Amino acid sequence: MLRNIYLDNNATTKCSDEVLKVMLPYLSNEYGNPSSIYSFGKEVKEEITKARKNIAKLLNADENEIIFTSCASESNVTAIMNAVRNYPEKKHIITTKVEHASIIETMKYLKSIGYEITYLSVDKYGRINIEELKKAITNNTCLITIMMANNEIGNIYPIKEIGKIATAHNILFHCDSVQAIGKIKIDVKAFKVDMLSLSGHKINAPKGIGVLYIKNDVPFAPLIFGHQENNRRGGTENVAYIIGLGKAVELILNDNYEVNNQMQELRDYMEKKIKNNITDVIIYGDIENRLSNTSSIAFKGVNAEELLLMLESFNIFVSTGSACNSEIAEPSHVLTACNTDLKNYSPIRVSLGKYNTKEEIDIFVKRLESIINTIRKRG
Ligand code: PLP
Repeated sequence: MLRNIYLDNNATTKCSDEVLKVMLPYLSNEYGNPSSIYSFGKEVKEEITKARKNIAKLLNADENEIIFTSCASESNVTAIMNAVRNYPEKKHIITTKVEHASIIETMKYLKSIGYEITYLSVDKYGRINIEELKKAITNNTCLITIMMANNEIGNIYPIKEIGKIATAHNILFHCDSVQAIGKIKIDVKAFKVDMLSLSGHKINAPKGIGVLYIKNDVPFAPLIFGHQENNRRGGTENVAYIIGLGKAVELILNDNYEVNNQMQELRDYMEKKIKNNITDVIIYGDIENRLSNTSSIAFKGVNAEELLLMLESFNIFVSTGSACNSEIAEPSHVLTACNTDLKNYSPIRVSLGKYNTKEEIDIFVKRLESIINTIRKRG
């Protein structure tokens, strides 16, 4: 039987063995409620505190600036609604055309209740224009929300510059950093970010755990009321998942971006090999300023969906865009915003993870070459 070659790590990642190991006791014998005042609960609370400390360290934040949520989508929506509630008189928000669905859909909702939304455009490489951002700011702007790195094309956005601009205008700045964690050194103080979102399942922790960083001096209005997380997010803590996320972050802190460098080497090796073996290839995004693991790539005359299915028949898994959108047959909003020629070129996204090997990449490129030859011969 063919073994799985999983190349869709921007969609989700495998929960690592180290992470699973630290989680398991909290799904069985260590089931105390961290809010309980007896030792069976208090010990659990201590483990949550350890996880919180690790995340604060990774972001150069303070421990009390970290709120655990159910996912990054919740963190994104909470951050946006927090800005809206902080400044009820200001009804303008700036974002980009290439954000994650959880941001775009929240913007649509806010527009429906009277907000004005500015979506910054991107050029054909997916880059935003800082001058356009500066021009968009008005006295009515309550929030700038821009991602640190794009999930489809991998572009890294100039967060430090945006943070400076937002601070100078006294506007709240939220950054969706889901794809950046573990790949870009994040420093919330240096980046002047007020709110930032993270997700566990992109860094080899489980699905269903997220983080919202909120700067100490930013007033906070919860989305889910209750006493947990210092009255900022109600609901009994998802103990095992928080502890798992803490471990995943500890692994990132200890490895000093070694995995990231390996992924970049492997991605560059893969792209070079593809270009050497297959003609009429386009690689999308800001080539010199992309995430280490991401390759959005198209082959002239080859339909991405057909390619995906043929790769799947060899147990090789890639995506045709963002996995969160893959049930929707519409073209990717990111590549549409880049004005990509989606008639002649139909991109797949290959996103590597820490478990991918050179051997897997060699098998993938070989299969890719033969599938594309078959499709092109058939015409
Ligand atoms: N933001 C970005 C950029 C993402 O890629 C994703 C997930 O794909 C999310 C937010 C949502 O994360 P979660 O699945 O934890 O809600």
